Amino acid sequence: MLVATASISLLGLAAAHVGCSGHNIARRNVGGEHNVIHDKRQVDTNNVDVAAQCAPYSYAPMANSKAKYPAIWVQPATLVAGDSEAAALFATINATVQQKVPHSNSPHGTPKGDWTGANYPTGDPDCWWTQSRCTTPAAELGIPSDITNLPEPETWGLGFDDGPNCSHNALYNFLAENNQKASMFFIGSNVIDWPVQAIRAKDDGHHICVHTWSHPYMTALTNEQVFAELYYTRQVIKEVIGVTPTCWRPPFGDVDNRVRVIAAGLNLTNVLWKNDTFDWSVGTNNVTVADVTNNYQKIITAAGQGQYATQGLTVLNHEVNNFTMQEFIDQYPSIKGAFKHIVPISAAMNWTHPYVEQNYTFQDFNAYIGSPDAASASGGASGTAAGAGASSAAKSSDKPKSAAGVLRPAGAVLAGALAAALLL
Ligand SMILES: [Zn+2]
Repeated sequence: MLVATASISLLGLAAAHVGCSGHNIARRNVGGEHNVIHDKRQVDTNNVDVAAQCAPYSYAPMANSKAKYPAIWVQPATLVAGDSEAAALFATINATVQQKVPHSNSPHGTPKGDWTGANYPTGDPDCWWTQSRCTTPAAELGIPSDITNLPEPETWGLGFDDGPNCSHNALYNFLAENNQKASMFFIGSNVIDWPVQAIRAKDDGHHICVHTWSHPYMTALTNEQVFAELYYTRQVIKEVIGVTPTCWRPPFGDVDNRVRVIAAGLNLTNVLWKNDTFDWSVGTNNVTVADVTNNYQKIITAAGQGQYATQGLTVLNHEVNNFTMQEFIDQYPSIKGAFKHIVPISAAMNWTHPYVEQNYTFQDFNAYIGSPDAASASGGASGTAAGAGASSAAKSSDKPKSAAGVLRPAGAVLAGALAAALLL
């Protein structure tokens, strides 16, 4: 086994700061499991008061279902005892993993991204994105590639990670007012905590994908843990929202061939990203709001200079806190001025049936840019588009906060760990 070289170590270090690859997410938006069981609506969609939106509630249809799922925000998820259906499916997928990537060196590190002592061959046999930004496994392996670029030029593929956020009404109202759809990459633990907010995404006609159960570094996990992180998130989205996603995004972008095979076994296409707004990073390593605005503007300027004249791009945005959501609202006019189209990944990829349930039909690219649907084709009610406005800092979180009240990820800690691990 080869020891990582200094150059590879530096690349790995840099990659650790990329978007969802830069922050460890502990439990946030803490909610659920409280005294009052409400019917579907916690607060009206036109209520943008953060405290009101984030008041904990229990959702009656889910009250007796939690035993079917792993504990929320416990890394990593594992198979639930007695879940024979999940165990059988895992056994099948695991057999495929052994067949396709028996050489794999994974797991690579820890669920929190500590690669202390990690050794990895310089040839990148596992197409490990975190190390090499590899998105295309060797063709002979028959493993699906990741989505980063989009086929349509001058097109911004819009997606938000880490939701549902309890206080997302202002963002979702803004999207509805602008008849703008997005792809929402939901965390299973957040769906448990905030089911009503998750349902709104479908009601508003957004495209829903999986973003794991507890937001770990996926290449650090065993095959069973990778499976459980994806499987139970897919399951809870089905139970709460009523649809079964066919796409996912790895937290921190941390994916390799082994993880890809397991995801593919669950019929989940990996949507990575081409550009990152780094909106999550305010408060880490002295990153300021102005820095994030500048990141947006760099992408926008590049579009004006013709950089996306032949293809579109996926861009990483977050629903993780009120700053990231408000910053998108503020930047939206500039994005719209620079790009011909802003579309959800479903439209960008012409996925007209993005769920297992074939009775949900989404618009392809041409239909979407012609006239976006007001809501999902399944007849879900469109959100009431009123009262969008500035949102303030999130009410509930166990994350440390910066002076500006913005949730602060733990990327700096990770960087130090990587430096110690890989530069030796
Ligand atoms: Zn994320």
